[in-house]
Amino acid sequence: MFSRKSTIIECCSRLVAVPLLVAVLSVLLPGFSSADETPVFDGDRAMELLVEQVEIGPRTPGSPGNLLLRERIIEKARQGGLRVATHIFEANMPMGNSPVQLCNVIVSAGPAGSEAGARLWLGAHFDTRPICDRDPDPTLQGQPLAGANDGASGVAVLLHLMELLAETPPAVGVDLIFFDGEDSGLSGDPGTYCIGSQRLASTLGDFDNPLSGVGCEGLILLDMIGDKDLFIPMEGYSIRNAPEFTRRVFRRALALDLPAFSMTQGPSVFDDHVPFLQQGIPAVDLIDFDFPKWHTTRDTPDACSAASLQQVGHLVTDLVYSR
Ligand SMILES: [Zn+2]
Repeated sequence: MFSRKSTIIECCSRLVAVPLLVAVLSVLLPGFSSADETPVFDGDRAMELLVEQVEIGPRTPGSPGNLLLRERIIEKARQGGLRVATHIFEANMPMGNSPVQLCNVIVSAGPAGSEAGARLWLGAHFDTRPICDRDPDPTLQGQPLAGANDGASGVAVLLHLMELLAETPPAVGVDLIFFDGEDSGLSGDPGTYCIGSQRLASTLGDFDNPLSGVGCEGLILLDMIGDKDLFIPMEGYSIRNAPEFTRRVFRRALALDLPAFSMTQGPSVFDDHVPFLQQGIPAVDLIDFDFPKWHTTRDTPDACSAASLQQVGHLVTDLVYSR
C-alpha cells in the first residue's frame, strides 16, 4: 500500500512538472510551443481578410468580383503550398435569364486521402446576393449586397485558416470548401438557393467531383458568423439530422469558453450543409441568423467584429489540430 502510494505521488509530480516546464520555456523562448503545435487564430487578421473581400465589390455568380475572389482563393492556396481543385459547371440562376458558370473551390491540407484518419470538411459561401431585397428602403432593394457578414465572414475565417495550415500542416487531412451560388435564390423557395453545394453533394460519386470517394468525419459550415453581437445556437437541421456531430462541435466550443455558442436549439436554415445531410454526411451549420441587417445595404464591415471572427476561428482551428 505504502509503496503504491509513493508511486502515484511521483507520477503526479511528473504530470505537473512537464506542463510547467513547457510554460516556462514558452515564456523564455518565444519560438517554443507545446507538443500539440496548435497555431493561434488571429481575429484581427481575419477581419482584414473580410474587409478585402468587401472592397472587391459584389461577388454575385458570374460577376467580375466573383471571378476575382475565386482567383485570389486559388492563388493564395497555391502560394501556401496547399492542394487546390475546382468544381466548375453551368447553371440557370433563379434571377437571371442565361446560364452562368459556377465554381466551387476546394483547398486541401495535410495527408492526402483518408489514410491518416477521417478528413474534416469546412465550408463557407464566397458568392454574395444580387439584391438587397430586405432593405427597409424600397429604392435600395435592387442594389447588390456588400455581404460583409453574409458571405465574407465565413470566407475570412477559412482564408486565415489557410494561412495557418500552410505554416503548420495538420496531422489529419482537412478540406476547405468555398461554395459558389449560395445566395441567388428566390425568397420563400429554398431549393433555388445553395446551387453550388447542391451540385457538389449530389455528384459525390462522379469521376470529375474533387470530393469523390473522399470520406469525411463531417462538414462544419460557417455562415454569418461575423456579427458584432454574435450568438450561435444549434441550427435546426444540424441538430435533428447530425445530433452527435453537432453536439461534439458545440461541446468543444463550451470547453474553450467561447461565449457566443449556446447548446440551445436555434432556427432551421436551408444552407449549404443541407445537401450534405441529404447524402447522409454529418454536417453542422454555425450561423447567427438573428441579424437585422440580413439582405440589406447595411451588411457592411462595421456590422462585424474581429472578436466574433476570433471565436469561430479559434474553435475551428482547435478542431482541426486536436485530431
Ligand atoms: Zn444570404
